[in-house]
Amino acid sequence: MAIEYRVGSGWDSHVFVPERRLWLGGIEITHPLGLSGHSDGDVLLHAICDALLGALGEGDIGSHFGSANPQWQNAASERFVRHAAQLTRRAGWDVVNLDANLILEMPRIQPLREALRESVGSLLEIPSDRISIKGKTPEGLGNGQSAIAQVVVLLRREAACS
Ligand code: MG
Repeated sequence: MAIEYRVGSGWDSHVFVPERRLWLGGIEITHPLGLSGHSDGDVLLHAICDALLGALGEGDIGSHFGSANPQWQNAASERFVRHAAQLTRRAGWDVVNLDANLILEMPRIQPLREALRESVGSLLEIPSDRISIKGKTPEGLGNGQSAIAQVVVLLRREAACS
């Protein structure tokens, strides 16, 4: 059996606004501000979804869950990631690892890291030790007005020999 690999990258940003709940990695976080967006604004899950779809060559989150569709208004982004993970598994791919940068002023990511890894691992149905989540402060960028997520994922599958 030959082994084949695919890499995918995802990037997203959302603006902090008052009177919104803050969702990151599928977890509701206690914070005075939330992230704007058509769905729940979960910037990390959106970047994860795009990384998986990118690795599969299946377009991006907007081509699967368009923001013009009222069905996805305030939708839980877990649904988007579960869909991308299902496409991944159906095509025979395993997630080798996923590495994410969350670039935001507040909240601090370090105390949330293990909970985020567990949550993302359970959404992707893989062990959390294959998930890395790093918090970075956006020195000199944007005065804490937004959150950015950047994700790289590696997929692996056994390819039938031709
Ligand atoms: Mg988004």
